[in-house]
Amino acid sequence: MLSRAAVRDLERQVGVPHVYTRPADLAAYAYDAYGASGLRRVADAVVFPESTDEVSGVLAVCAAHGVAVVPRGAGTGYAGGATSDGGVILNLSLMTRLSAVDVEAQRIAAQAGVVTAQVHARASAAGLYYPPDPGSSTTSTIGGNVACNAAGPHTLRYGTTTDFVAGLTVVLADGRIARVGEGAEAPQLLPLLCGSEGTLAIITEVVLRLIMSPGARGTLAATFDDMEAAAAAVAAISEAAIVPAALEFLDRAALDAIAATEAGDVAPGAGALLIVEVEGTAEDVEAHTDGVREALAGAGARALEHATSADEAARLWRLRKSVSAAVAKVQIGKVNEDVVVPRDRVAELVSRSRQIGVVNGLPVVNFGHLGDGNIHTTFLIDPRVSGDRLRAAAAVEQLFDTVLMMGGSLSGEHGVGTAKLAFVERQLGEAQVALMRRIKLAFDPAGILNPGKKIPSPPPVSAGVDVRRSALEPSAFG
Ligand SMILES: Cc1cc2nc3c(=O)[nH]c(=O)nc-3n(C[C@H](O)[C@H](O)[C@H](O)COP(=O)(O)OP(=O)(O)OC[C@H]3O[C@@H](n4cnc5c(N)ncnc54)[C@H](O)[C@@H]3O)c2cc1C
Repeated sequence: MLSRAAVRDLERQVGVPHVYTRPADLAAYAYDAYGASGLRRVADAVVFPESTDEVSGVLAVCAAHGVAVVPRGAGTGYAGGATSDGGVILNLSLMTRLSAVDVEAQRIAAQAGVVTAQVHARASAAGLYYPPDPGSSTTSTIGGNVACNAAGPHTLRYGTTTDFVAGLTVVLADGRIARVGEGAEAPQLLPLLCGSEGTLAIITEVVLRLIMSPGARGTLAATFDDMEAAAAAVAAISEAAIVPAALEFLDRAALDAIAATEAGDVAPGAGALLIVEVEGTAEDVEAHTDGVREALAGAGARALEHATSADEAARLWRLRKSVSAAVAKVQIGKVNEDVVVPRDRVAELVSRSRQIGVVNGLPVVNFGHLGDGNIHTTFLIDPRVSGDRLRAAAAVEQLFDTVLMMGGSLSGEHGVGTAKLAFVERQLGEAQVALMRRIKLAFDPAGILNPGKKIPSPPPVSAGVDVRRSALEPSAFG
């Protein structure tokens, strides 16, 4: 529980209207997108700073009072990272200033609360391109994207958010402000802070790298009888030495959800859908479109569409983008994972996930970024039914075991938060987790920044640490 003195100090930093402590207000921040699993955590206060200086003031107050600080953007995270049992939620959604595009330097500066799609729009208006495009881009914030190292359909060709961060302004746990950027003489802190999920510092401003817009773009969609045929098409695209800008898939259950909710026009009985986008010069796009079309047809595509206008491309993409909303209409709750397996084993994982669903009595939907082997395996539940939540927990554990056994990893883009915390050491090994704890300690000695997220707590002291075993922990590469 926050002391009255702490609340007063917070109010002095950001103003009384920007500090929420009423239970009804706090309830609105008790969940993020992972709330669809039924998880709720209530903070003691939610504060809304408007500038880096105000964030600095809030951090200084929290450090002085020993209060936990949980940064929050739009709350679209699927890992339970932006909620807090007690402590202060630092809501950055009022920090929405976005600079003009510096066309010559190919840069744009955004405060943490700027919505991702606004960066896309401003870059595009200046003839430039910001490729990271999470499915939540009309809602998620740039600060949240950097904190989770968000990816998206176009990661296959261009990389993740981290690849486009040229500089950050961050507030440290004691309230000091640091500007971290490029330059040979600067310590290489950007990759460490990107993806740190609010556990090392609060991101308040981001300088993003933009690239030239591709001259041309081609979008194709094809349905197949099953995932195996779709996987064969992907292998054929790869063999043709084509690197698409995006290569997305939906399985039969995802297509059924879209058809049932009339969210899009789906060919009846299709077992899988692939969306393939190619970008580049007009000549490259023409050649690659032909190559992709051949690969899709050769693998037995039932129906093949090629968008010849931006409107038609948007219609094809709507199928992919409508899946989360469609699934939410089919069932009230879900646990949505973002596991990664080698690309040639995606069909196998989809099949195994269905078996896991059957064993646990839960419907399962698969869709995602096939080009990166990043699959959103989603178990559908009614979170009001405790049996469903328990079954989902068992299903997720079996899924993670399967993924690790297949040489994959637990998260391609959503991050760890609390949702995957129990499995981190299994993937990374004890030594690497010990290293993460030391880095955390260096940034945040009092442990007030997003505690209990991303980095598993150390074992109880009485358990002791076997130094030899730590040193010999097998690497994630086997
Ligand atoms: C429909 C839907 C589709 C999605 N599709 C994708 C996708 O394609 N790719 C993808 O990567 N993700 C996707 N996501 C997940 C989510 O949108 C991303 O993780 C996004 O980056 C979170 O941004 P946010 O602003 O909502 O962050 P939040 O949910 O508010 O926070 C996420 C984490 O970042 C931390 N954080 C937030 N802001 C800051 C800050 N300024 N400084 C430090 N830490 C901070 C929080 O503490 C928390 O740990 C999707 C989610 C939904 C609901």
